[in-house]
Order: sequence, then structure tokens, then C-alpha cells
Amino acid sequence: MSDHEIDVALLERASAIVAVATELGIKVKGNVGQCFNTRQHQDANEPPTLFFNTAKNTFFCKVCPEVRGSVIDLVCQRQGWDRDQAIAWLAHRREFDLLTRKLYHGKGRKKS
Ligand SMILES: [Zn+2]
Repeated sequence: MSDHEIDVALLERASAIVAVATELGIKVKGNVGQCFNTRQHQDANEPPTLFFNTAKNTFFCKVCPEVRGSVIDLVCQRQGWDRDQAIAWLAHRREFDLLTRKLYHGKGRKKS
């Protein structure tokens, strides 16, 4: 836990959108996933409509005009959270990730 100011741009870059989507319970295959906006998608067996741009770390649904944005927007929209909540969650997730990496790779190694 840290109370220093969070670098949001850095956090966005460090949070790979497909990994985040998977952790949020979205079914992803390659860079396409099942949209979580169930009001627009009644049939769970329909072809996936949620597209992830891994280079830009963004997403959009080709059916729902409001389902799109950055990795932070993804967390907000999927979880129904506000932006601060989503940023806090991502920051915690990243700290956990760094901690795990240290555990497995030791402190000296820069690349995995
Ligand atoms: Zn959708």
C-alpha cells in the first residue's frame, strides 16, 4: 500500500488490456472478446463483438456505442466503478504484479 500520487499514464501503459479484461471475467480469444454489456447482447452464444487494440491499449464493442475507451474505461464500465476506483484497482493490481515478478525472478534481473 502506498499513498504517493499515482502516475495514471504509466499505470495505463503497464496494464495490458487483454490481461485486465481476462481478470475481470471477460472471455477473450486473441484480441476479441465477449461484450459485458448484457442489455445489448441477450444471446450469450453470439459471435464476440468486443475488440481490443493491444498496441493502443484500448477497446470497443462494434454493437454498443458506449462500450469503448482506455484500459481504465474498461474497468469502470465492466465493474460499474468510477474512475478513481478503477485507478486504485489497477494500481493495486500492478503492485501485486511487481511483487510477484520479484518473487519469481529475483531483484537483479531486468528482463524476464
Ligand atoms: Zn456490446
